[in-house]
Amino acid sequence: MWSWLLRFLRWVEEITLGPRSLQTSEHRNPSEAPSAEIFFARSDVVEKTPSNDAVRPGQFISVMHKGRPYWALFRCPCGCGDVVSLPTHPPHNPRWRIEVSVEGRPTLHPSVWRTKGCLSHFWISEGRVYWCDDTGVEPWRARSDLYERKI
Ligand SMILES: [Zn+2]
Repeated sequence: MWSWLLRFLRWVEEITLGPRSLQTSEHRNPSEAPSAEIFFARSDVVEKTPSNDAVRPGQFISVMHKGRPYWALFRCPCGCGDVVSLPTHPPHNPRWRIEVSVEGRPTLHPSVWRTKGCLSHFWISEGRVYWCDDTGVEPWRARSDLYERKI
């Protein structure tokens, strides 16, 4: 009786874990692997929103207005050159939250998924950029794919 149960559990483990491990190895792309490099070495706090031309690659700018976060600006880490500007102040939805590590490196919540241009989808954590598997795909298309796969 117990050996049968054990065999059954092993079988369940195989069918539930098998396809998942296959999927990660099949869909992994070196460009999507977590980047070990520090892309944003520090977060520059300014009071006036700079022009896009003034944003240097690798520079993370946090605009503060009356001591409160207002905007985050940086050049897209994919290298396309576009300036990404994100609202960090309350009336905006969605809005992003910036945390700065002891080393002064920025962490951004939630992830950034560009809806135009390169359509990059990434996380910034302690100045490092982590690419999502669906980067380069339109957010609405990826979501409908996900929906179709479920049904
Ligand atoms: Zn880009």
